[in-house]
Amino acid sequence: MSNQADNPCLSCGACCMTYRVSFYWAEADERGLPSSMVEHVTPHISCMAGTNASSPRCVALGAGTGGPMACGVYQQRPGPCREVQPGDDKCQRARARHGLAPLDGAI
Ligand code: SF4
Ligand code: SF4
Repeated sequence: MSNQADNPCLSCGACCMTYRVSFYWAEADERGLPSSMVEHVTPHISCMAGTNASSPRCVALGAGTGGPMACGVYQQRPGPCREVQPGDDKCQRARARHGLAPLDGAI
């Protein structure tokens, strides 16, 4: 997910409500993620809080500025959030799961 002017992510957030956003535990400290927003999955793997649920929803979703679904920890977001791009396969699958129309390729 990314935050920019005219970015569909700011009113979407589907990927933040679809996947478990997990990463090597040390990344949370390296990026400065608030501990209240991180859950431990295994001794070595953590995830964004809320994304390990059967109906995932990241706790940071909607806590940012710029749009109703803006990320509240955009500068500190972990690697998986940086990898998904508007219009890629993970994006399109997430949007389909939430009944949103596919994007016409990357922006
Ligand atoms: S599903 Fe796609 S458009 Fe929606 S927030 Fe994620 S990357 Fe952005
Ligand atoms: S940290 Fe931000 S970009 Fe990553 S899943 Fe949560 S709301 Fe989405």
